Amino acid sequence: MKGAKLPYRYDHYTWVEIREVVKRQPVVVLPTGSTEDHGHHLPLDVDTFLVSSVCEGAAQLIPDEVLLLPELAYGFEDHHMDFPGTITIRDDHLLDFVLDITRSVGHHGFRKILIVNGHGSNANIMETVARRTVIETDVHCGMLNWWSMAQSTLWRIGDSDLQSHADEIETSVYRYLNDDAVQMDKAVKEVKIPDQKYYWRGWFRGKGASPLRMMDQWSRISETGVIGDATVATVEKGEQLYQAATRELAELIREFRTLPIEPRVDRH
Ligand SMILES: [Zn+2]
Repeated sequence: MKGAKLPYRYDHYTWVEIREVVKRQPVVVLPTGSTEDHGHHLPLDVDTFLVSSVCEGAAQLIPDEVLLLPELAYGFEDHHMDFPGTITIRDDHLLDFVLDITRSVGHHGFRKILIVNGHGSNANIMETVARRTVIETDVHCGMLNWWSMAQSTLWRIGDSDLQSHADEIETSVYRYLNDDAVQMDKAVKEVKIPDQKYYWRGWFRGKGASPLRMMDQWSRISETGVIGDATVATVEKGEQLYQAATRELAELIREFRTLPIEPRVDRH
């Protein structure tokens, strides 16, 4: 069921209205998620639900400066296909698909596009989309992962030392937004870290991410789908993480909107 017309929703306007909205040059925001396993305790929609909620929260803070596109609920998941329910979009297919969205938005005269991502394995693809959009159109297009907006808060208020998947941050924010859909009695801590200095498993407290990037088959490295500690997730932490993410994202959007697009110079 659809509610009231929201000033920050791209798809709530008519085409005649969009022609006017483009004149104030809001930042067009595309949330990208996934439909994928997130442990025994969380539904398949975690990445999509969290990223679209964070984007909506940021848009509510600065409604005239944002135009929120409908979220993309599918991502690149080939390494998760041992887990029932996961839907994967091939990487090249996803790249072309999202590039078609940014090109369309640019075609209608919008000059600032931000892809806000909620699924780790989309990140490199979305970065390529953003870079190609900049090169192939006269638009500024950037990308970020929503959790990077909340990571410092996680290390300050969180109890786990690893951020990766279906973990403290994702479970806490989901609990804050819709606790009824989280089965906390099935939440686990699953952290099997091999004795390897450089091998990536996520973001570690005080260390960041490893320089070696290799994504293994998920079923080799996780029993339940969780990597991290979901047992310490609470509604209260989720609220703080969500507030931090929305505040910082709104600030970033506002700054990105004012970044001037300088003319190109052919220096041959
Ligand atoms: Zn996730």
